[in-house]
Amino acid sequence: MLDAPRGIIAPHLGKGPRAGLCTDCGVSRMKDDRACGRACQFIAPDYEAAEVRIHGRSADPDRGEEAFFGVTHAMYRARLSRPAQGAQWTGITTALAESLLRSGAIDAVITVAPDPNDIWRPVPVLVTEPEALAQCRGMRMGFAPSVALLEQAQERGFKRLAFIGIPCQTYALRALEHQFGFARLYVIGTPCSDNTTTARFHAFLALLDGAPEQISYLEFRADYTVELRFLDGRKPRFIPFMKLPISQLPADFFPLTCKTCVDYTNRLADITVGYMGGDGAQWLLVRNARGAEMLAGIMDHMTVEPLTDKGNRKAAVAGFLANTERAAGGLPLRRMPEWLRPVVAFLQPLIGPRGLEFARARVEMKAIETILHLRRSHPAKIKNMVPTHIWRLAAKYGLTPDRSEIVRKDRAP
Ligand SMILES: Cc1cc2nc3c(=O)[nH]c(=O)nc-3n(C[C@H](O)[C@H](O)[C@H](O)COP(=O)(O)OP(=O)(O)OC[C@H]3O[C@@H](n4cnc5c(N)ncnc54)[C@H](O)[C@@H]3O)c2cc1C
Ligand code: SF4
Ligand code: SF4
Repeated sequence: MLDAPRGIIAPHLGKGPRAGLCTDCGVSRMKDDRACGRACQFIAPDYEAAEVRIHGRSADPDRGEEAFFGVTHAMYRARLSRPAQGAQWTGITTALAESLLRSGAIDAVITVAPDPNDIWRPVPVLVTEPEALAQCRGMRMGFAPSVALLEQAQERGFKRLAFIGIPCQTYALRALEHQFGFARLYVIGTPCSDNTTTARFHAFLALLDGAPEQISYLEFRADYTVELRFLDGRKPRFIPFMKLPISQLPADFFPLTCKTCVDYTNRLADITVGYMGGDGAQWLLVRNARGAEMLAGIMDHMTVEPLTDKGNRKAAVAGFLANTERAAGGLPLRRMPEWLRPVVAFLQPLIGPRGLEFARARVEMKAIETILHLRRSHPAKIKNMVPTHIWRLAAKYGLTPDRSEIVRKDRAP
């Protein structure tokens, strides 16, 4: 057990990740590590069956935005009226869990906290005091074996839990939750894309600023900039996406897991809290009654605004597909001539998609990326690993499965 503040339990977790496509979600560190076979997003995920089990039905591509974002009962553009100190956006994610602990609905929350020696490294923790969640706020880059804490929670006699996690963790959690027999399990998900190891992320920070150890916050914002905040009191910096030093990153900077991920929006969470569709605010997708119950607990502390939907993504997504097909390492920005970057950086926030259209664009790009990278690196995995919702998103851009890439006829889009 690591030294941890009051209300936070940080158990030592043995074993390690698996070789191959693995984000160290925690299953391989459990007593029965063979469970990876049925719990892994990278082997043979069955999202439709899981959606029926968890949400009562699978996503309906003809209903609202479900073709893009999965089962959705309600969608909001929102912020906490008083943003929480240290939060990634305004802190809705941790506020949901805090409210559950405060009301006594749960005994503990499984989430991650910063490593005491490296604020960017996520460490899985069990949180039992609502105040302690303040220490977990903010986004860290890296992989945390949080799902392994299901065993720790069970051993400690916790019966009612909340889990905060990224999509590959949520998939594994949902596959295994029934075997633990918890009385209640609330799942708060965030979207996730372009994750990498914490060590690699430090190398990226060093390219962005002369004093990378002073960077305390980084976010890819919906206005096409990356925001940096600093420990030394400097004013935040906003770097346009187009001016990021992507060309200086090694081709394998983003691991293959995250280039072939099949769930951007955390489709199996009870509620997803992101920013992509929020146009500067947070973006909430309530997926079932449990998600609505959680949100009701903090509604009095939120400001809700109308969703926005601007621009047209089609040309941007088609351009991304062409670039990704061309780029050997899958870093399409590499091919942009230097002189063009400032022009595009200026134009992008003005003419680029915003709000829901931005979120649709990102989800389609990720689906395209998944298929192209798997075709290049693991073609034999495609038929079991790529779910219908990914093929459906990519089909609009002419990317369709051949006979060897689908398991059954009914998996075609
Ligand atoms: C690697 C990564 C990539 C992301 N990419 C996108 C994206 O492309 N689009 C989008 O809309 N949203 C993305 N998100 C989510 C987004 O950054 C915000 O975390 C989310 O919108 C919640 O903001 P908040 O203020 O409510 O969170 P807070 O209240 O600050 O809480 C954040 C929660 O996330 C947990 N967390 C932090 N880092 C990790 C990690 N590495 N693994 C697991 N849990 C973690 C924290 O422990 C905490 O519980 C990403 C998150 C991560 C971790
Ligand atoms: S289930 Fe988790 S630990 Fe197992 S292989 Fe998949 S990502 Fe890795
Ligand atoms: S991008 Fe996908 S595979 Fe990578 S950490 Fe995020 S959810 Fe997991």
